[in-house]
Amino acid sequence: MDMLIGGKHVSSDDLEEVKNPYNGEVIDTIPIAHLQTAELAIAEANKAKDSLCEMSAFKVSNKLFDVVEKLKDNREDFARLLTLEVGKPINESLVELDRSIETLKLAAEEAKRIYGESVPLDAGLNGKGFFAFTQRVPLGVVAAITPFNYPLNLTIHKIAPAIACKNTVIVKPPTEAPLTVMKFCELLNDEFPDGVVNTVTGYGSEVGDYLVTSPDVNKISFTGSITTGLMISQKAGMKKVTLELGGNDPMVVLKDANIDKAVKGVINGAFLNAGQVCMGVKRIIIEDEIADEFAEKLVMETEKLVMGNPLSSDTTLGTLISEKAARHVEETVNNAVKEGAKILTGGVRDGAFYEATVIDNVTQDMDLVVRETFGPVAPIIRVGSIEEAISVANDTEYGLQAGVFTESYSSAMKCAQEIEAGTVFINKQSTFRTDNMPFGGFKSSGVGKEGIKYAVEEMTKTKLIGLNLR
Ligand code: NAD
Repeated sequence: MDMLIGGKHVSSDDLEEVKNPYNGEVIDTIPIAHLQTAELAIAEANKAKDSLCEMSAFKVSNKLFDVVEKLKDNREDFARLLTLEVGKPINESLVELDRSIETLKLAAEEAKRIYGESVPLDAGLNGKGFFAFTQRVPLGVVAAITPFNYPLNLTIHKIAPAIACKNTVIVKPPTEAPLTVMKFCELLNDEFPDGVVNTVTGYGSEVGDYLVTSPDVNKISFTGSITTGLMISQKAGMKKVTLELGGNDPMVVLKDANIDKAVKGVINGAFLNAGQVCMGVKRIIIEDEIADEFAEKLVMETEKLVMGNPLSSDTTLGTLISEKAARHVEETVNNAVKEGAKILTGGVRDGAFYEATVIDNVTQDMDLVVRETFGPVAPIIRVGSIEEAISVANDTEYGLQAGVFTESYSSAMKCAQEIEAGTVFINKQSTFRTDNMPFGGFKSSGVGKEGIKYAVEEMTKTKLIGLNLR
């Protein structure tokens, strides 16, 4: 599939194969863009700014709604392609499509709500006789750099609010899974002036870096790993940057918790998308009294998951993004076992598949839980009190989301207030998001928020206009 720049298809001398992680078959090829291509995309995005700004909010909103309809019409095709390139079960891909449609709809609605406010200058010294108001003004060109795990919805979380508030966009999709994003940009391009949305494929270290450092790109909206995010923030200079980075989300299970509910939370939180979820349950921190019963039930439910062809609707556990990624998870789990952890179920790799794995006797200093393990692994850390649970939950450089299971109102509030995370859910695992909520982590998990209304705030600047009526 070609890149889309200024409304035209653009290729390159260098091509990269996009492979299905399930069977290694080549799905398509993408061009590897070099710096000149990135430069062209920046020029086209800048050229298109005026034509987008000339459109009324009414028209932008309607056009986004038209894209919603097109995406709905192509829901199954997009889901199939997503499964082929990511290896996630088809039912999960259909959910990603439904969320993508919802995200786009929210942006189409938000396009009509880009409000300013009146400002009472007469409340300040010498301000009497002025009338003043603010406007939210687009930043210009937004570069959207996105990861492989939820490529479509996470990219729409950037493109859609950017266009809703009249920024043009350059998308750098993930190299491993770029196709659904590129196909979606074609749909968008049919509705908007050429150059409003552009795609540049290639290696992040080359084109991504170029977009980040270019003075003609006004904002970087990045979702991906902490390592890349840190590099971007160091290079972006005075540019506005939003960073949605990794997570190491705790699930705190207190002794008065509803165990069945918590077990279900782990199944939906640790194994979704083969554990490749930023807000996945990555550490189960549980009070000793109930840990044995919980572990037994968790093993029973985990063993019901069906690993297999991701295109089959019976499959509930697909592959990881690559065999290399699965090998990395295997090595991390094996190291934890060498240090004293005990596998209760799973622990076996087959190509890019890694079995859903429950691992007990994990301690907080093991690499498995110090770093973000991006695979279908549920590590159990046993603790003796609520205070210890909170302290272990906070003993990490990450702070994306958290889940707490308890039937006690006061324990729930204590955890909610003391756990350092962008979101704390009570009686729900961290792996939950609606696309309108403010989403974004504390600590090294990120800077800024997404969730359409919040993304719009980060993609506009405030201008004050004051009239001297004296
Ligand atoms: P990654 O950081 O390797 O890559 C993300 C994107 O950055 C890709 O498009 C890549 O090509 C590009 N990139 C790489 N080097 C770059 C550079 N030097 N300059 C600019 N761009 C560059 O991440 P990944 O492996 O694709 O995704 C997994 C990570 O993303 C995990 O850590 C996960 O937790 C995180 N993630 C976070 C969220 C969130 O919303 N907080 C959501 C999904 C995934």
